[in-house]
Amino acid sequence: MSAKVKIKRRILESLAYPRQFAMADVDLSACPHSGLFTAIDSRCQQCTRNYECDWLNSTDEFNDLAAQPLDFLHRALTFGIDYVDSRNVPTNLHAKDCDCENCEWLEDARDLAHEYTEMTA
Ligand SMILES: [Zn+2]
Repeated sequence: MSAKVKIKRRILESLAYPRQFAMADVDLSACPHSGLFTAIDSRCQQCTRNYECDWLNSTDEFNDLAAQPLDFLHRALTFGIDYVDSRNVPTNLHAKDCDCENCEWLEDARDLAHEYTEMTA
């Protein structure tokens, strides 16, 4: 297995963690599209959850995610990192050596994003 295939597999696995939070955050009861993000609909553009929703749709496993280019998956991972990071509130509870699930995921995901950057440099 090539290094690129390996890192791709790890990024795909890694995306599952932020996806579970984003799914819980996107309120489908108020969504006219049942969570299928529609970029041209003004209701979607004005929705407070449009970033999460767009990201969820673009990272759906059923969307043949594994066939997406590596740089796309890297961008999706970067969004996931910001998303999980924004949930670590208050931040002072999550110091450098915090071993909560969010922080452990963030550490792994940042390493992974760094490996990708090194590989493609
Ligand atoms: Zn933490």
